[in-house]
Parts: sequence; structure tokens; C-alpha cells
Amino acid sequence: MTRATLLENGLVIDGTGAAGWIGDVLLVGERIAAVGQQVRQRLPEGLALQDVNCVDCSGLAIVPGFIDVHTHDDAIVLKTPDMLPKISQGITTVVSGNCGISLAPFVVAKPLPPLNLLGADSFRFDSVAGYERAVSAAQPAVNVAVLIGHTTLRFACVADLSQPASASELDAMCALLTRCMEEGATGLSSGLFYEEAFAAPAEEVVRLAQVVARFGGVYATHLRSEMQTIIEALHEAGDTAFRAGVPLVISHHKCAGPDNWGRTRETLPVIEALAARQQVAMDVYPYVAGSTVLREDLVDGVIDILVNWSTPHPEMTGRTLASVAAEWGVDQKAACRRLQPGGACYFQMQEDDVKRVIAHPLSMIGSDGLPHDQHPHPRLWGAFPRVLARYWRDEKLFSLETAIYKMTGLSARNFRLHERGQLQPGWHADVVVLDPARVRDVATYENPIALSEGIEKVFVNGELAYAAQGTAAQASQARVQARAGRLLRRHAPPV
Ligand SMILES: [Zn+2]
Repeated sequence: MTRATLLENGLVIDGTGAAGWIGDVLLVGERIAAVGQQVRQRLPEGLALQDVNCVDCSGLAIVPGFIDVHTHDDAIVLKTPDMLPKISQGITTVVSGNCGISLAPFVVAKPLPPLNLLGADSFRFDSVAGYERAVSAAQPAVNVAVLIGHTTLRFACVADLSQPASASELDAMCALLTRCMEEGATGLSSGLFYEEAFAAPAEEVVRLAQVVARFGGVYATHLRSEMQTIIEALHEAGDTAFRAGVPLVISHHKCAGPDNWGRTRETLPVIEALAARQQVAMDVYPYVAGSTVLREDLVDGVIDILVNWSTPHPEMTGRTLASVAAEWGVDQKAACRRLQPGGACYFQMQEDDVKRVIAHPLSMIGSDGLPHDQHPHPRLWGAFPRVLARYWRDEKLFSLETAIYKMTGLSARNFRLHERGQLQPGWHADVVVLDPARVRDVATYENPIALSEGIEKVFVNGELAYAAQGTAAQASQARVQARAGRLLRRHAPPV
């Protein structure tokens, strides 16, 4: 018998930004079968009420599954397919391969930085097809859409990463990317900020983005700079995408470093000007701290830095760099060098900038969580509920409908995810039931591994993937139920 669930009497927010209304959503098999009122009185032919699992959603909101557009989940979906940090936030799809770093297509036993950000002991996929087979075998709780990383392509094809790719190396990168796009990749990402990609001129990325354009894919970029030269970096990204003819996504938009605080007043108008001539979007996470590997050049002695992991000094995990430096009697840069390789949270943003970006109509939500860190940035477990609790309910930056749109419909449109991100009859049944009055993130910098509250039920491809256990005290008993995620192949045909 076909599986059917009827979510009744909830506040239906369809993911388009339109106002919510009280009604029902019927899931049959993998699809949404009906969205409306009194749906139990007009069930589809062949479906009897006694065969339907009816769930009263009075006082709760029924919304599309959240799409985490900025992740580094390439390897974790295979290693820990329960994906509890994500599914417990209401996330039903993750976009992996961001910041130029993707697991495919590259094969190596011991990945070097920044590829080791993915936490994989080895890279073993020379194509998207091989990765898709591994995803099917692992059966993660969430869907996965993959970007192909420019830095990964450089590792695969370029002999000297401190140089631009030679003509023949660039041809090889284009050929690899073409194959990945043929096999269903969603697009290309770059991380020009990272040393291993920094030598690449815009021209190199334009050539690759042109490949993506032929397949109707997208281009997402971690800008060459998010500090002093961010305006130049924004223009570079805009021109690259414009010349190639691809939609642009600016990753985790921020103005980093105290000298740049307040400069979203400059960057957002630049992004708006780009958006007047081409398709542009940006993603953002709702915190003033960023997180990446421990890098001496990011240690300025001014901002707070929290150690997330350190291979030589695991005992310093969770400590501030300043306190480690004081204990060792050295300056912070020296302490940073001793802790490497490692990772850290950098409190490098200003709250007003974060708010300005989150409230901007072109922004959507992405966690940028790093799932392999011992003591991760709290965004890994809390980013989406935090937007709802802090920026919708407390700060009233926007309506609940707009907040949901930034996590669902807008995200699906920008990444061209077919028939997802909205509650529409016939679309894939990725659906969340949440309590608007209670939803909140619990993860903090001090205690970053904690389930959010108020995410009551999460359905992925029609199957109940996650159910909260009622009270907060019982939340720790919440368990991932079905794992029904899959790799989402790009739907757009070659153009
Ligand atoms: Zn990044």
C-alpha cells in the first residue's frame, strides 16, 4: 500500500514568500498530493481515510524542507548518514562542494589543506557517478546536490598550485568538469581566497564557468577577499559569471575584520548593481563568527579566536587563542603556528552587518557548518532555527513567510533544484512541521553540539526522517527515523 500522511490544521507556509493560511498538506508516496483545506473530505481516488496517517498540526507551521545551500557535507553524508545535525534543524537538502572544495572528482590517499576541511581520510571518487553510487549505498537522511570545486579540479590537474593552470592543464580541468556536469552536478564553486586557488586568474575560472553555462548550472564563489579588497573581489565574481553566462551565488557574504565593519553598506549596493544586469544571489549564516582552518594571517591580536581543533594540541580545543598564548607565554601568531594544523572560530564580523545581509532580499540561508570539527562552530547544529528564533521572532527583521522563503523557495530557485523548496501538489514531499512559538537553536560556542527545539517532524521524499520527542528534556532521545535522501541530479538539460 502506498504510504500516505495528512498534516492537518497547520499554518501552511508554501515557501514562495506568500502569506500563510490554516490548512492541510497530504503526502502520498514520495510526492505532495494535495495542499488545501478539508483535504480529508476529498482524498485522491483509491485512497481511504483509514489508510492515511493523520497528524494534527494545530498551532504548528507546515513548511517546505529547508535547503542548506552552503555546506561541506560531501564526506559526512557517507560517513554519518543519519545527518542528525542537519535533519534536526529541518534541513532536507544540503548543497555540498562549496568554497572550491569538493570530494569529487579527485583521487588521493592523503588530502592536503584545504581539501582536508572535508574530513575525508581519502578522496576516492574520480567522477560524480561514483559519488552518486556511494550516496545511494550510504542512504543519507538528507538529499545532496553537488557543486564541483575549482580547487579540487586544480589538485587533480595542475602541477604547481602557486601558478595559473597552463593551457593544457585548463583543458584537462574543463574535460573533468564537463564529465561531472554530464553526470548531474549542480554547478561549479570556487574559493579564490585559499592559497591553492589564489594564483588562478579570473580567466581560468571564466573558462570553467563557461562549461557550467552549457549545462544550465550555477557558479558559487568564496570571494578572493572578504576584507579590504572585497569590492574588487565582488566585481571579479560578477564579471566572471557575466562573461560565462551563469547565475552567480556569493558565498557566506560578510565584511570581515574590524577595519571592514559596517562596509555591507558599500557591498550590498554593489551586489544590487550586479543583480541589475545578471542573476545574482548570496548566502549567509546567522553568526558574527566565521570558522575555518587556523591561519596566521587571520590572527590580528584584536578579534577573539576560539580553537575548534588542533592536531598537535587537542587539549586546547574549546579554548581561546589568547588564553593559549598567555599560558605558553608567546604571542597569538606564535600560538597559532604551534596549534597547526587546526581549526578555529574567528569573531570577525559585526552584528549590524550580519543583520543587514540576512534581511537583504537577495540573501538565502546556508550554515557553512564544518561537520568534522571536534568542537564545531554552533552553526553546524543551529543555523536555521537561529534565523527563526533570533532574526524573525526576536529581532523581527522579516515575516515568518520571508524567513521560510530564504530557506526554501529562494534557495531551490537559485540552485535550480527541480520541484523542491515549495509546498506544491506534485512536488517532492520534503516537508517540516515546526512550532513557531518554540523553535530555537540550542547550540552555543561553549556547547556547540545540541539539538534545536521546536522542529517537530521532518519528512524527506515523503518519509518521516525525524521526530522531536516532545519536551526539551526528552529531545536527546530524538532519533533519525527513515533515511530517504538521495543525490539530486541537475535537472536542467544542456543548452
Ligand atoms: Zn568559504
